[in-house]
Amino acid sequence: MRYEGRVFRPPSEAYSLIVQVTVGCSHNKCTFCDMYKEKRFHLRKLEDVLEDFNIARRQYRYIERVFLADGDALIRKTEDLAA
Ligand code: SF4
Repeated sequence: MRYEGRVFRPPSEAYSLIVQVTVGCSHNKCTFCDMYKEKRFHLRKLEDVLEDFNIARRQYRYIERVFLADGDALIRKTEDLAA
């Protein structure tokens, strides 16, 4: 898998495939949080995201769950998320 910078996930997603659909956090202003301070927020190209899924498909026999990273992954268009 290809990741830009550090990647975070909740403990409940320990066994999930982590796929970055965004990089950084669209808000990135919470004073208690430094997770994405070094990143400038942007959406990854859909082609790159889909390529990551194809890489994972070749590397892993079975994937039960997928976690979409980074911060604010649901900011993406519904069509992108559906793809
Ligand atoms: S990841 Fe969450 S807690 Fe951290 S800056 Fe963004 S909105 Fe705030």
